[in-house]
Amino acid sequence: MKEVFQISSKIVTCYFDEAFNEVQTLYPDTTIIYVTDENIIEAHADKFQSQQVIVVKAGEKFKQQSTVDYIVEQLIILKADRQTLLVGVGGGVVTDITGYTASVYMRGIRFGFVPTTILAMVDAAIGGKNGVDVGIYKNLVGCIKQPDFLIYDYIFLQTLPKEEWINGFAEIIKHAAIKDADLFSTLQKNSIENYRSSIQALNELIRQNVKIKMTVVAEDEFEKGDRKLLNFGHTLGHAIENIYLLPHGSAISIGMAAAAKLSNEMNDFSSENFYDLKKLLQQYHLPVQKEVDAGKIWEVLLMDKKKLGDGIQFVVLDKIGQAKTITLPTSTLELFFKNYFKSGETLTT
Ligand code: ADP
Ligand code: ZN
Repeated sequence: MKEVFQISSKIVTCYFDEAFNEVQTLYPDTTIIYVTDENIIEAHADKFQSQQVIVVKAGEKFKQQSTVDYIVEQLIILKADRQTLLVGVGGGVVTDITGYTASVYMRGIRFGFVPTTILAMVDAAIGGKNGVDVGIYKNLVGCIKQPDFLIYDYIFLQTLPKEEWINGFAEIIKHAAIKDADLFSTLQKNSIENYRSSIQALNELIRQNVKIKMTVVAEDEFEKGDRKLLNFGHTLGHAIENIYLLPHGSAISIGMAAAAKLSNEMNDFSSENFYDLKKLLQQYHLPVQKEVDAGKIWEVLLMDKKKLGDGIQFVVLDKIGQAKTITLPTSTLELFFKNYFKSGETLTT
């Protein structure tokens, strides 16, 4: 099934539940070069037979300029030119780096994605943010450029480790919390196990989430307004992720639980809704609390780029399915976080 989204003047086409090698039918008479990582090529070698493939090392550690340089060297060897189509097949690391390399190679060639993790399918591969980390600084260098297409081939998910499924569901729950109360109740009635065993249910879920993110991005490609809501749980989440090296999904889950509590204390978000959100995160095997060094977290959080004058911009919930950004005095937020982590309050459900 095909769905088309327009982001500024760019048309992005999504093919849901489609075979990955349909790219060749969609782009006849085109030189296609795939970029993937070593885990994916190992698990799915048969799908890449007689194709031109550039294989990079797996993991965030390799989302660095040196990997871009490597891909560029390979593109030169493969005689890639302005007509070449670059297709990133992988998780968020592969899609980010493919989009970035394609955007700068010969000042920009066409590219598309075949996301192979839940996280990339609903989040990382959507929205056109491409780039690399520089040392410890995540996504410091990059660009915003939309892909021509995304192909959703669920066959890849058969080899996706369980932890990666869990990781991706954190972003799905985030979408429901900030934008879609109906999706939230659908998730309450389901489980990762259900979605793993039903392609139909999974396809529906992915489609809904793609639509949520595409719609937000279409309205605010350069993150001046509504796109900021997608950072729900991420300010604290990123700090925890960086210090404790947790998976992204786990870190933002803890971040969302804290942000929900803050919404309860400083906005109209009800206690009942707060518990519903925490319960849902746990239902999807995500952590909602961690013993942390609150002082250290606070330090890292302060360095976060969302800092604004004397206040810090923070995404809070009004209710399930509705969010907004508020600016809180730095001292208020500091007090909240230090108390929140000291009290261990969120351990109870
Ligand atoms: P993200 O979680 O941002 O999507 P990655 O690109 O780092 O990020 O992917 C997470 C890990 O899962 C990597 O080690 C990658 O090689 C692996 N991986 C991605 N897709 C699959 C898949 N379909 N089957 C098995 N392993 C996969
Ligand atoms: Zn995220």
